[in-house]
Amino acid sequence: MEPEQHDVIVIGAGIAGLSAAWDLRDRDVVVLERARRVGGRIWSEQRGDLWLNLGAHVYAGDDSAAGTLMREVGAEPRDIPGVLTGVSYKGRLVADGPLELYPFKLPLSLRGRAEFVRTGLRLRKLVAQYGEMARQRPREQPAALQQRMLEFMDDRSFTDELGVLHPEVDAFFRCTLTRGTGEPEQIAAGYGVGYFHLAWNKEDGLGRNIVGGPQTLIDGLAAPHGDRIRFGVVVNRITQDADGVTVECDDNGTRRTLRAKAAIVTTPSHVTAELVAGLPAATDAALRAITYGPMISAAFLTDEEGPQRWDDIYAIATPGRATSMLFNMGNVLMPQRHRGSSFMSYSSADLARRIMGEPDETILDTYQAELENVFPELQGHVVERLLHRTDPGIPYPFVGRSRIQPALMEPLGRVHLAGDYLGSWYAETSVWTGRQAAAAAKQQ
Ligand SMILES: Cc1cc2nc3c(=O)[nH]c(=O)nc-3n(C[C@H](O)[C@H](O)[C@H](O)COP(=O)(O)OP(=O)(O)OC[C@H]3O[C@@H](n4cnc5c(N)ncnc54)[C@H](O)[C@@H]3O)c2cc1C
Repeated sequence: MEPEQHDVIVIGAGIAGLSAAWDLRDRDVVVLERARRVGGRIWSEQRGDLWLNLGAHVYAGDDSAAGTLMREVGAEPRDIPGVLTGVSYKGRLVADGPLELYPFKLPLSLRGRAEFVRTGLRLRKLVAQYGEMARQRPREQPAALQQRMLEFMDDRSFTDELGVLHPEVDAFFRCTLTRGTGEPEQIAAGYGVGYFHLAWNKEDGLGRNIVGGPQTLIDGLAAPHGDRIRFGVVVNRITQDADGVTVECDDNGTRRTLRAKAAIVTTPSHVTAELVAGLPAATDAALRAITYGPMISAAFLTDEEGPQRWDDIYAIATPGRATSMLFNMGNVLMPQRHRGSSFMSYSSADLARRIMGEPDETILDTYQAELENVFPELQGHVVERLLHRTDPGIPYPFVGRSRIQPALMEPLGRVHLAGDYLGSWYAETSVWTGRQAAAAAKQQ
């Protein structure tokens, strides 16, 4: 049978694939997706004015690739009004005032407090250096900025840089750093410092959520394609020749072959290395070298009435507990107070590995207990809960990661790679690499 023919085949309907397909919407493009839904690691579900969130929730500002895309699609990003630096520790919630005073407000031992102050000051200096380094230069391409970001303090781990910390202090830093699914011993120091830069500088970092939930952006991106997005299709092999690409897949149980002028591949790096035939050795090795950790996220809908003490808080670190962070999704709707709240919490890296094998209900019970530990007044008010496991979760730059970046950026003829593993900015990386791939595919 003659293979069906298209201009471009996009593999994966996460934000990288959908960003690429958005730019190709006036072409004959088809998107092949293994799952039964669009969005990949972006996933939210609306509940009245609120939404339950299980994936990416904070995005970069107006000038970013994600910001531009949101404007084009008509999504409604909004600056997060609340505090991003809340901490709940041993029953005490601290979420206001200068960060320098946190060590004195939290219930720490004397040694823990002294080390917290010392490490905090050192980190502040490093974060300032990172901010300088990461500022985009006039007319600088995202790939050049990305390379510089990856090179920053890339020759040692975060633990090598800051030393082995007092257990109390370690717990604080670990629960923030592992948002990227690597432990402080595994991640490059510069990437770890960059994480604190994101959390402490809302305007330069990931300081926006999307009203109605991030799925509204995904659905907007998918809308022009209708049934050109095909679900339950597992791509097994991608080969290229002088005239085009051949994509072999399992389409809901039927083996199928498609041809196109170009393919955009947005699967995780290790899957990509298996799928794409004839990769240069350096690209193949680079794809296989990318490191990911697992992540488990949960969403809780509550039905309390009236103003609450979390109304002005977006993010709360929960050191030393079964979850790492707690997020208050409805904060972007403030100052308007709606009935109920939507919380998201998660465990990642080693915390997630420890519980990955447990049943959903057990994990949800544990996470709910953690939520009620932070806000005991929520007891009896949780009305819905969802759980999602993501493995591989998020790619994290390991020590020496910058050295494989040139091999990942190398053009591959009619096959174009896109996805978050090509950089260190999560969904932002997926968007710019997706759009860059679409621009290259248009030339073929
Ligand atoms: C809990 C959680 C919270 C996060 N929070 C944030 C955040 O706040 N901000 C942020 O910027 N980022 C965040 N991230 C990371 C962000 O979600 C990802 O960086 C981004 O969504 C990745 O998009 P992608 O399109 O590159 O990959 P994906 O979303 O993984 O898309 C790849 C798609 O390919 C499909 N696929 C895989 N193999 C095949 C195959 N063989 N054939 C066909 N299809 C296939 C998959 O099903 C998937 O849909 C978070 C991630 C998680 C898990």
